[in-house]
Amino acid sequence: MRLSKNDTFTVDGVTYKVINTLGEGGQGEVYLVSDGGNTYAFKYYKEIPGSDFKFNLKNNINKGSPASTFIWPKKYVEFDDESCGYLMDVRSSDYVSFISYLTGKNPFKDLKTKLTWCIELVESFKLLHEKGFSYQDLNDGSFFLNPNNGKLLICDNDNVSADKTNLGILGKMRYMAPEIVRGDKDRMTGERQMPDTHSDRFSLAIILFLTLCLGNPFEGERLKNHVIVDEKAEYEMFGKNPIYIYNEHDKSNRPINGYHTAVLKYYPMLPSYIKEAFHKTFTDGLKDRENSRTTEIEWLRLLSQYRDELITCPHCGKEYIYGYSEKKVNSTCPHCHNKTKEMCLLTIGRKRILLEPGKYLYMVHLNKYSSEYNHAIGKVIQNKNNPSLWGIKLRVDNDITVQDRNGNTKVIAKDGVIPIINKLSIQFDSQTKGEIDKQ
Ligand SMILES: [Zn+2]
Repeated sequence: MRLSKNDTFTVDGVTYKVINTLGEGGQGEVYLVSDGGNTYAFKYYKEIPGSDFKFNLKNNINKGSPASTFIWPKKYVEFDDESCGYLMDVRSSDYVSFISYLTGKNPFKDLKTKLTWCIELVESFKLLHEKGFSYQDLNDGSFFLNPNNGKLLICDNDNVSADKTNLGILGKMRYMAPEIVRGDKDRMTGERQMPDTHSDRFSLAIILFLTLCLGNPFEGERLKNHVIVDEKAEYEMFGKNPIYIYNEHDKSNRPINGYHTAVLKYYPMLPSYIKEAFHKTFTDGLKDRENSRTTEIEWLRLLSQYRDELITCPHCGKEYIYGYSEKKVNSTCPHCHNKTKEMCLLTIGRKRILLEPGKYLYMVHLNKYSSEYNHAIGKVIQNKNNPSLWGIKLRVDNDITVQDRNGNTKVIAKDGVIPIINKLSIQFDSQTKGEIDKQ
């Protein structure tokens, strides 16, 4: 059965009217419906799902959404013929698909925004896992992004389920952990290995690699072994014998010059600590699924460090890292090779944040126990009349004391502006102190 415009159905005493069709996927159609006041998206399955699937869907609705980034099923709908679907919120039109980003149609505003999206993605995975869920059908069609502010939306959450259960949907091989592609037996139970937090971590690393390098971490020279990339080829590349394209010990699957252009361009610019996190997951993590896959907490720390370290080149406008943790710092811009500008460094404990207009301070900078990596508490702004004067516009809960190099102290209101001047010491709260250093 398909629904048509103006069709109605009633759930729990509320009548919904079909306004139009929003889209069609493999599993079902999605309609825009209205209850007279609010509008919702209604996903209606083409085929009647099995009782396990229905049970899982209802369970997800009851347990509730792990975070606001998930367009989570809100209400289960079943018709007399046992066909069914669910109501969810409508995705705002500010968001574009991850696929359109991967094809180059919708790039992020800048690298800082891209990393904010990556952090939001990792935070969402963390919250999903903390609720005992894991992905069953993880692929590029599930993710959406706002290229201007780095906000994330995750759809298709009817395919999320409790750890180690499976609904018969296993996703696309190029996003899956190899043991799930191969259908390995679980060491403990002897049963087929089912998706769980550990397989999700592998997939998460693949999505992060795709986002940062615009290529799949297992697609390199070995593509040449296959005339067409069919299911058999994918099984070989992502299941039976995956080889990371930047494996330090096995160079047989390097990206192909002139073909994997994006990866060859973007990968070398990644900080070494991000490269190491990928290498660990995509080499040792192929076998040691429990100990060698970069965890969400590790990713949050590393991606946040990457974002803090970015500076914008005044010549070409592109961002890069100065490279405090690298063997060699970038004394010139890797994009246009002009000399690196003078920098303004804010040090808070072990954190180093390079300040420039548009840069944010986050809750995690002030509180080491915080997990709010995208909760902004300050933004670097320029004086309207004199753009060479910078300050940090605050959005904190308490007033802040600053002291200049001559020992003069001043209280800055919690919504005030900290002037960015050399050797300024900032007492954010009783435990957190920062210092500005112009280099
Ligand atoms: Zn440049």
